Amino acid sequence: MEDCLFCKIVRGEIPARKVHEDDWLIAFHDINPARPLHLLVIPKKHITSLATATADDTEILGRLLAITGRLAAEHGSPDGFRLIINTGRIGHQEVPHLHAHIVGGPEPVGPMLKRA
Ligand code: AMP
Ligand code: ZN
Repeated sequence: MEDCLFCKIVRGEIPARKVHEDDWLIAFHDINPARPLHLLVIPKKHITSLATATADDTEILGRLLAITGRLAAEHGSPDGFRLIINTGRIGHQEVPHLHAHIVGGPEPVGPMLKRA
């Protein structure tokens, strides 16, 4: 995916404040943090969203979920955090490369969604 913003971060063509990298995933600070801690965890493989993920992606999705607790604890949110995966138009996903937002910090992040 030549033009995908997060694929460019994976390839090192765009800088990011990386906090983790392994064979499957990278994690980096969101450029516009919504809370004191705001990390993004993404698969290195281009998967557009949870709406297009398949059973072939099971391992990578498991790895993505499994690393979130350690990243949150190590980066200032040891008492919990919120994981958000915006998906597609309805989910208000802006970057079409699957990513999980880890948001947290020393204070509770607030209620999940405003009720419509
Ligand atoms: P979403 O609305 O779920 O697609 O979220 C996209 C997120 O990517 C937003 O929170 C942006 O602030 C973040 N973002 C956009 N460009 C960059 C970048 N170059 N480095 C880090 N985060 C970014
Ligand atoms: Zn991509």
